Amino acid sequence: MEEALFRQLFLVIYVIFFGVRIRYRVESARKDTEQPRKLSNAGKLQAIAILCYFASILLYLLDVPSVSWSRLGLPFWIRWFGVSLAIVATILVAWTHLALGRQYSAELVIQKDHILVTTGPYARIRHPMYTALNMFSISMAIITSNLLVLFFAVLVAFIFPWIVREEELMLIETFGEEYREYMRRTGRFFPRIRPSSDANE
Ligand code: SAH
Repeated sequence: MEEALFRQLFLVIYVIFFGVRIRYRVESARKDTEQPRKLSNAGKLQAIAILCYFASILLYLLDVPSVSWSRLGLPFWIRWFGVSLAIVATILVAWTHLALGRQYSAELVIQKDHILVTTGPYARIRHPMYTALNMFSISMAIITSNLLVLFFAVLVAFIFPWIVREEELMLIETFGEEYREYMRRTGRFFPRIRPSSDANE
């Protein structure tokens, strides 16, 4: 049955995605960082939204009857499209990890000997990892064809601009004019279409 197949694909892709990330997450947890920043309100809100996202995934995987109303019944071709998007997103996440290297951290921190990365996907986009992660969670939600999962995936994505604002303030504090200049020639989540002097975009 197709439904069971999507459920299996969902799990397999999640395991691969997890496999790509685990090494970096473990390294990040071990790292000797300067004072980690206190979790801001946006950070707290995001943590709650991510928890809800995982809870909705659990409800989906367990096929809890009381939330059967959340089944969207998306056409199969859309769900197959979700499968291909999720695979592309996983590759993009791996690419951003390779480019960011040891500057990656799960929290917003500046590390010892932190350098500003402006190569690979960072040459044109300032937050390609967040773009790829959101692309991943939304495409996974499309595979599930579940309203709750989709709702929380989109909610998490909507919180990112606030996180990014804090992250960029921190990077400006650290790298000053170098980061401001980098902002002028890059886009926040997508490549800049045409050059502009507006550094806030
Ligand atoms: N926001 C980036 C990186 C996510 S990891 C992205 O979406 O691709 C979060 C850490 O990356 C932050 O603690 C920040 O210190 C660091 N960071 C963000 N952009 C960076 C850059 N261009 N060079 C070096 N470190 C960066």
